[in-house]
Amino acid sequence: MAVAETTDAHVHLMPPRLMAAIRKSLAREAGWTFDHPVERDAMEAALRSAGVDRYLALPYAHEAGMAADLNEWVLAESADSDMAVPFATVHGDDEVESVVRAAFEAGARGLKFQCPVQECGPADPRLAPAFELAAEYDRPVLFHAGTAPMFEESEHVGADQFAEFVASFPDVRACAAHMGTYETPAFLDMAREHDQVFLDTTMALSSRTADVLGFDPETIADETLTDLSDSIMYGSDFPNLPYPYDDERRGLLARDLSESTYCDLFHRTAGRFLDG
Ligand SMILES: [Zn+2]
Repeated sequence: MAVAETTDAHVHLMPPRLMAAIRKSLAREAGWTFDHPVERDAMEAALRSAGVDRYLALPYAHEAGMAADLNEWVLAESADSDMAVPFATVHGDDEVESVVRAAFEAGARGLKFQCPVQECGPADPRLAPAFELAAEYDRPVLFHAGTAPMFEESEHVGADQFAEFVASFPDVRACAAHMGTYETPAFLDMAREHDQVFLDTTMALSSRTADVLGFDPETIADETLTDLSDSIMYGSDFPNLPYPYDDERRGLLARDLSESTYCDLFHRTAGRFLDG
């Protein structure tokens, strides 16, 4: 199955020092280690050789006071790239409105929240100014809103939190990363009901999902991917994925989906997420 164009809707682009700190904590907490490069040039060479044409460049701020600089860095890196689509982030304890407005004015195409790590989620009132700006500027929001891989105790994730967002900001396109694992059925229902709800496949539909996430991708039927192909987009978590890049796609490509469904998953749906 050849896919004409590929967008990876879930790539992390962050300064190498910050990435090193993130990797250290993922190694400690999830036992994951990573072989993929973190410098943009090397990342893009690897993505390009894997057949990826563009990617959403996602930062996140694990503490207050860092988002403005981080967003500027991502925007500057993306300005030198013909593959990166820059996203921005903000922390709940930042001057949320001014950080997000500055990022949107400077060209950020959406917002990313790693909810459990940032300790602020889709129902957090501190982030309401960010969500209102997303509506005003017509920019999408991508949340790590699910409980996987180790956040079942977090109060900042879960289908209920995400549902609150969908009810409060019906005009904002919102993606739940990782197919919403471990509450995938609830997130799939929301995607069925609401045009503005998206899911990304990151780590949840790969050939390594069962051993890495402890989630069985076969619980998501081919039919579901076909029916919801305009709401589901391919993502990888590159460069922080604890296995070879091709393993991420292998699970999807091994399914018996139509060419049109694959086009949606690997490219078209990301366009609808970005541009409406
Ligand atoms: Zn991620």
